[in-house]
Amino acid sequence: MTELAHRTGAVNLGQGVPELDSPPALLAEVADAVLAGRNQYPPAVGVPALRAAVAAHARARYGLEYAPDGEVLVTTGATEALASACLGLTGPGDEIVTFDPCYDAYPAGARLSGATLVTVPLAIDGDGFVLDSDALRSAMTDRTRLLLLNSPHNPTGKVFTPDELERIAELCVERDLTVVTDEVYEHLVYDGARHVPIATLPGMRERTLMISSAGKTFNVTGWKVGWACGPAHLIAAANSVKQWLTYTSGAPYQEALAHALDAVEDWAAELRATLTTHRDMLATGLRAAGLSPYRADAGYFLQADIRPWGFTDGLRFCRELPGRAGVVAIPTSAFQQGVDTTPWLVRFSFCKREDSLTEAVARLSALAG
Ligand SMILES: *Cc1c(COP(=O)(O)O)cnc(C)c1O
Repeated sequence: MTELAHRTGAVNLGQGVPELDSPPALLAEVADAVLAGRNQYPPAVGVPALRAAVAAHARARYGLEYAPDGEVLVTTGATEALASACLGLTGPGDEIVTFDPCYDAYPAGARLSGATLVTVPLAIDGDGFVLDSDALRSAMTDRTRLLLLNSPHNPTGKVFTPDELERIAELCVERDLTVVTDEVYEHLVYDGARHVPIATLPGMRERTLMISSAGKTFNVTGWKVGWACGPAHLIAAANSVKQWLTYTSGAPYQEALAHALDAVEDWAAELRATLTTHRDMLATGLRAAGLSPYRADAGYFLQADIRPWGFTDGLRFCRELPGRAGVVAIPTSAFQQGVDTTPWLVRFSFCKREDSLTEAVARLSALAG
């Protein structure tokens, strides 16, 4: 779809690559670190200052205690942490449970490790996506080794509610399951709501590997610095793989991010305000164009129902949209692993410059009019 956008000159609301600014101080610090010669292999588990900052962030924001030595691992993006967790904790014959639709690194991670990905569809309720606890329970078998939980969720923009997290946690404790989380949108939760890591729930810290990343929080997706926090045995399992995937990466970025993470709250408030405006612009524009957007409580994306335009197939819609309207979106079916009961969902991203969104919305409404 990105290639299609280049070829047709369409506004690309497909891929979730942010067009927004990064904190200027962070960029200057990276430049300084490079020029100061911080360009050699950092420690395999991550530079000490960043591990300390990750631990301090978890304590200050969520009241979670992790030892910077042994319970924090810096990785090449959240992607490497996720792959390392799958490879380090599962193998052939094991099952990994996650929700459908899901981020495309999960099926890939499961395939790399030889495990089977079992997906539980998120149910649609009104204008949002909800947990079906019965479906989750029946997806669990004797072979289930871990639950991969992405909240805030890509591609739906769903934030699992405290009640849903409680039900998931109870099931994991009951079945003695390990949970690997993907919380890369932890700071991008809108409308005054706050992200709750499942590790904060009773009985969960000791069984949860909590993964996040700098990419989405600071608009630096090209730097690929992520991290995992968890009890020492889970960190050791992930590290045993990570060590042979990349060993280590991003020395100057890691150093600069340590300081940025210490000051993340002010920055994140500003970014949330911008993204809230952008989300609302896009939602209003989609509605004006006759498409029905779902609620997005977090992240970069809006789901839209294309049936009002007479389409039932998101892939066909997305192939035709650049030619018809000069806009690129992504069919949600691309993120669907199991039976696709919602082929009429399409994902639009709003992590774009305001003028890109204004132009996209104008093009869509022109077509509707
Ligand atoms: C963007 C994204 C990632 C990738 O994070 P990196 O730090 O760039 O590897 C992982 N999970 C989700 C849900 C994402 O949207």
